[in-house]
Amino acid sequence: MDRFSEAFYPLSNYQYTSNNPIFFTDINGDYFVDPKGHIESLIQKTGEKQSKFGKRINELDNEIKEIESNGGDSSKLKSEHKKLLSAQAELSTMLKEIEKLGESPQAYKINELSSQENHYGSLTMSDDGKTVNVNFLATGSNRFGNLAHELKHAFQYNSGDFSMIRGGGATRNTFDIKFEIEAFTRESIFNDFNNFGLINSQFVKNKAAHYDRLISAPDEQRIHTLNKIKLKISESNRSKITPKEVVIGWEKL
Ligand SMILES: [Zn+2]
Repeated sequence: MDRFSEAFYPLSNYQYTSNNPIFFTDINGDYFVDPKGHIESLIQKTGEKQSKFGKRINELDNEIKEIESNGGDSSKLKSEHKKLLSAQAELSTMLKEIEKLGESPQAYKINELSSQENHYGSLTMSDDGKTVNVNFLATGSNRFGNLAHELKHAFQYNSGDFSMIRGGGATRNTFDIKFEIEAFTRESIFNDFNNFGLINSQFVKNKAAHYDRLISAPDEQRIHTLNKIKLKISESNRSKITPKEVVIGWEKL
């Protein structure tokens, strides 16, 4: 399936997910089609992350105070502190977004992909235009990150950020690189903050062709950032791009 096909069919009315309640998992009173409870597992995993990060943040608070009272350099600890605080905020946002997805009249179905056969998860619209399929790599070590990533896209779609074609994915002319960066940023929290290699390989593999529209940015900044990304790609031997720099480049917009 070409998730960036130019074809575009406007979706008709939202459809309620009333066909077969037996397959639905109840999240906050509404429905995902999620027979294996992957969303619940993700929520549980998120709770574990939150408490782990919370403990570390408290430790860092004390360590930073102590170092500073001795006139030492706390900059390294402070940057870890900042990273964890923003991860905590991101996780809270994720939980709220999952809740909103569950309350949405749009049906979302969680599908497992095998990591042996697939390199990426995806978000696709069913042929009948009624159900958004959240396809994620269910067997890999990054399964929570991958599900969090695809759910971010689901939420972006739910918010009207981009359009999708029936039987396919997002239409290219509505898809913005920032949607991918948001999804990878969230994913990285579940993967020790170090899976930015994935976004590299996406950029390199597609030679940024799929990411050539930054629809929400003013022209000058958009061109600046695109050139920066393209430069990174042309300079790179695949592994050399620092996606973090790309992300920082985006954040400067
Ligand atoms: Zn993505």
